[in-house]
Amino acid sequence: MAFWNVIFPSKCKICENPFIFKDQNLYCPSCISAIEKTEIYFCRSCGITVESGYTVCDNCKKDRIYNQIEAFTDYYKVGEIIRDYKLGGYKNLHKVLSQMIKEDLLSFIKENKVETVLYIPLHPSTLKKRGFNHLRLILEDIVPSFMIKDWIIKERKTKFQMELSAEERQKNLTDAFSLKEEAKFYGQNVLVFDDILTTGSTLKEVAKLLKNQNIGKIFGYVVAKT
Ligand SMILES: [Zn+2]
Ligand SMILES: [Zn+2]
Repeated sequence: MAFWNVIFPSKCKICENPFIFKDQNLYCPSCISAIEKTEIYFCRSCGITVESGYTVCDNCKKDRIYNQIEAFTDYYKVGEIIRDYKLGGYKNLHKVLSQMIKEDLLSFIKENKVETVLYIPLHPSTLKKRGFNHLRLILEDIVPSFMIKDWIIKERKTKFQMELSAEERQKNLTDAFSLKEEAKFYGQNVLVFDDILTTGSTLKEVAKLLKNQNIGKIFGYVVAKT
């Protein structure tokens, strides 16, 4: 261990202790295992932030969108890791993120009898540039591959949701997605996977796509809620 740290000296980005830098991990194992499941208050149907104690917002009481949305933790705890992974070119951070959420995501899938897992796609030009879909790589570490379907298509390039106001976000995404013709759900329970949940615009758009499909229940799972 000492030998490798001399050759590749590296400090963990969180605790700044030296550790073995391999697989582009950037973060030491003890800092990663310290990030635990967090109780967060948001509407489990549409994803907007609600006061503590409420699990569904007033709008969703009348018209529920998702049967249940689950978030692993707060954005401030993992935002930097997600940014390094998605935008910083540290592709192997998928291992760090999947290790973090694996147990929780698997039990959510089992509990809700999910049979098909969808994920938010990138526009083909973004995918080409980045070389990988960050969500798919995380899923492949956790979920059997026959359950993972690339049935959602990104129709046009959109701006980064995080840079926009709530109103702009909705507009930015309206009809940004479509469904492949091969998509067949046979009444199965479906889970939609994304990394960051802010106002819920992305999940809402996907729910719209699935509305007229033959699906059972619809679930959402995100790594972090802002
Ligand atoms: Zn550390
Ligand atoms: Zn709601």
